[in-house]
Amino acid sequence: MSQTPQLLLVSDLRAQVAALRPELDAAISRVLTRGWFVLGEECAEFELEFANHLGARYAVGVANGTDAIHLALRALDVGQGDRVLTAPNSAVPTACGIVQSGAVPCFADVDLEYGLLDPSSVERELDSPDGSSIRAIVAVHLYGRTAPMGPLLELAKARGIPVIEDAAQAHGASRNGQNAGTIGDLACWSFYPSKNLGALGDGGAVSGMRPELEARLRHLRNYGQEDRYHHVELGFNSRLDEIQAAVLRVKLAHLDAWNARRRAIAGQYREAFADLPLLTAREDTDAPSVEHLFVVRVANRDRLRAELEARGIGTQVHYPIPIHLQPAYRYLGIGAGRFPSAELRAGQIVSLPLYPEMRRRDVERVIDAVRDSLQGEPHPEEVSV
Ligand SMILES: *Cc1c(COP(=O)(O)O)cnc(C)c1O
Repeated sequence: MSQTPQLLLVSDLRAQVAALRPELDAAISRVLTRGWFVLGEECAEFELEFANHLGARYAVGVANGTDAIHLALRALDVGQGDRVLTAPNSAVPTACGIVQSGAVPCFADVDLEYGLLDPSSVERELDSPDGSSIRAIVAVHLYGRTAPMGPLLELAKARGIPVIEDAAQAHGASRNGQNAGTIGDLACWSFYPSKNLGALGDGGAVSGMRPELEARLRHLRNYGQEDRYHHVELGFNSRLDEIQAAVLRVKLAHLDAWNARRRAIAGQYREAFADLPLLTAREDTDAPSVEHLFVVRVANRDRLRAELEARGIGTQVHYPIPIHLQPAYRYLGIGAGRFPSAELRAGQIVSLPLYPEMRRRDVERVIDAVRDSLQGEPHPEEVSV
């Protein structure tokens, strides 16, 4: 009997978990034996190890990346009555975190090649008639590459507003020698399982360099509590639990090697696709990507996806509908056409399989299938929208 080959996924955690299984079992078992499950030794140690890896002054574990954005904004006194500017092509949780703080999300356009916030568009928004109500910028390090933090920090500084890094897709990334998580006023991390550093469930952290914000974050994540049963401000419940922290300590030791493997696969893809009617972000040596997702732009995305699927290769779209055009965000009153580059990209992008444990023959399979599928196709730049 012939077996249907398994669909190659965009991201697949099974091989990684299998390889680390003894270490993960031991870490989880350590927590079970200790019998302490929230805000204990594992979280404290992981916070130190993660901050150390980043070169940040501190990291504060929270329940997930969305909460990290929410609490970072609170710690910076941004909320009700404020607007917070971010990228419209980010994952929706970026906007969820902003909404949780009580603020209203607003957007600027991104550059076509990388999909990162375009400082000139940000400047236009800040200088627009209601730009003075923008009280923070959340810069998204999309797909593993840092946003252009230098120009964004300059614009923000001139207006006395903070810049928060949404680093949920950029564990290990840097720009001009500065690590993601140490550049903005605060930085937000997600440890959702499929991120470059992922827990076995939800998890998140806020890292930073400004010492005065650390205690504030620690209070906010734990009911506003300073010492036991002494509450200094209105707080929330958002903590990185001990089992996830223990798991993350195991995985952090492998992050650099995993990122190197991601970069090697991305390099192979870039080289193999160079002559195809396909656009992919060039490597930028000033801002090396940790290749969280390998996203290409093609003229006929649905056709490519269907042909790859027929050959057992899964794809995804990150993300097909910009945030301002999602039904839930219609209340913002931002129509189609407002952010042309983000909207053009949304119709062309497709994410190919890429994860550290991907086998060489699977990388080659993807390359062959993409090459076959795109022969004779129009170039994405030549397609009008
Ligand atoms: C994953 C992600 C988040 C949110 O993380 P959760 O842990 O799922 O809440 C935020 N921003 C971006 C860009 C993400 O990719």
